[in-house]
Amino acid sequence: MSPQEKVNILMVDDQPSKLLSYEAILSELGENLIKASSGREALQHLLSTDVAVVLMDVSMPEIDGFELAEIIHQHPRYQKTAIIFISAVHLTDLDRLKGYERGAVDYIAVPVIPELLRAKVSVFAELYRKTQQLERLNRGLEERVKERTAELEKRAEALQQLNTELTRRNQELDAFAYVASHDLKEPLRGISHFSLFLIEDYADKLNEEGRSHLAMLRQLTGRMEVLLDSLLHFSRVGREEFPMASANLDEILARSLDLVNSRIKETGAEVRVHDSLGYARCNTERLVEVFTNLITNAAKYNDKPRKLIEIGVQRSPNANGAGVDEVVYYVRDNGIGIAADDVPAIFQIFRRLHAREEYGGGTGAGLTIVKRILERHGGRIWVESTPGEGSTFFFTVGGVERKSEASEMQN
Ligand code: ADP
Repeated sequence: MSPQEKVNILMVDDQPSKLLSYEAILSELGENLIKASSGREALQHLLSTDVAVVLMDVSMPEIDGFELAEIIHQHPRYQKTAIIFISAVHLTDLDRLKGYERGAVDYIAVPVIPELLRAKVSVFAELYRKTQQLERLNRGLEERVKERTAELEKRAEALQQLNTELTRRNQELDAFAYVASHDLKEPLRGISHFSLFLIEDYADKLNEEGRSHLAMLRQLTGRMEVLLDSLLHFSRVGREEFPMASANLDEILARSLDLVNSRIKETGAEVRVHDSLGYARCNTERLVEVFTNLITNAAKYNDKPRKLIEIGVQRSPNANGAGVDEVVYYVRDNGIGIAADDVPAIFQIFRRLHAREEYGGGTGAGLTIVKRILERHGGRIWVESTPGEGSTFFFTVGGVERKSEASEMQN
């Protein structure tokens, strides 16, 4: 309904002359005027037509205005229809109250002042038009929300399917990596043994160049073995179900530091643990692996005369708005740092940013495995770094636990 569209105005009066005079007064509003000479006739019109305003005489034979108003407002479609009473007799406050209780919205006394009647009817007609527009807009909006919700649900479903497919393919890939690395190790062991026999039994029959080639062959098979072991381990970390339990991360860190102690001493790095790390639901062995990897790297990729490794935890209260603290652990170094462009590569398997033997060498699998371990815990890892100044590796473990009463009693 556009603002120009006409609305219906129902005029009810038992006296035809009055109906004619209302018609004359209201005709210039340009709306549809419907006449009814009794309450019964008015109800018949109401059953078949949408009416914006009912104009009615209070005193009519058969059904009086108040009764008619009550009947009209009982109908759900007309509960809010505007009714203007016209009364020739003086209306007491009590009468008015009765009218209002039955849903009347306005009164006009006789003699009717044409401008007043026109103004009142026109206000209610406009109100009706606006309400209709609003309701239509609302319906349109509801329709759009419904469509959008259906669309989103469809997308979520498609995403879910993709996820399932991805998980399946990952599992297949892990299974393949496992079988491939496992099966490749056997012939490799053979090559390694035979090259050793050659060195031991035939070295004197070879010239210097031959001996050097053999030595290189052994070195390469050794490297290949290390790579296959890393691949095997990577696939295991992805496939194996590892038990999880509430664990004391301070103890896990202490174990990790014990394991890397000699290597750290070699580098002369100083380790500072800033906070108590608290408890987390995790697999102890795997978390030891996470810490040893990050701490070893922090010492390895460091060319400063005073190497510093800092370990701690940052708690962001209610970080995700779900009333749960986000607990972020970090391992910081003042080492060589990583250029922003290189960051994605360091989490890819077998990718190193340096020549093979630089910075103590390595397979380039460590961080990829660490990432996978943390993701299997429901956590994540990321790095902030400035080349030449150092790096901070941050990670979350997923299920963070407050120190339980049981564990408190044990301590
Ligand atoms: P690896 O140490 O065996 O090479 P990682 O997966 O642990 O394998 O690391 C991948 C690469 O990321 C490293 O070769 C190195 O270039 C870079 N890297 C890792 N940790 C650090 C660090 N703390 N500072 C600077 N570079 C790092």
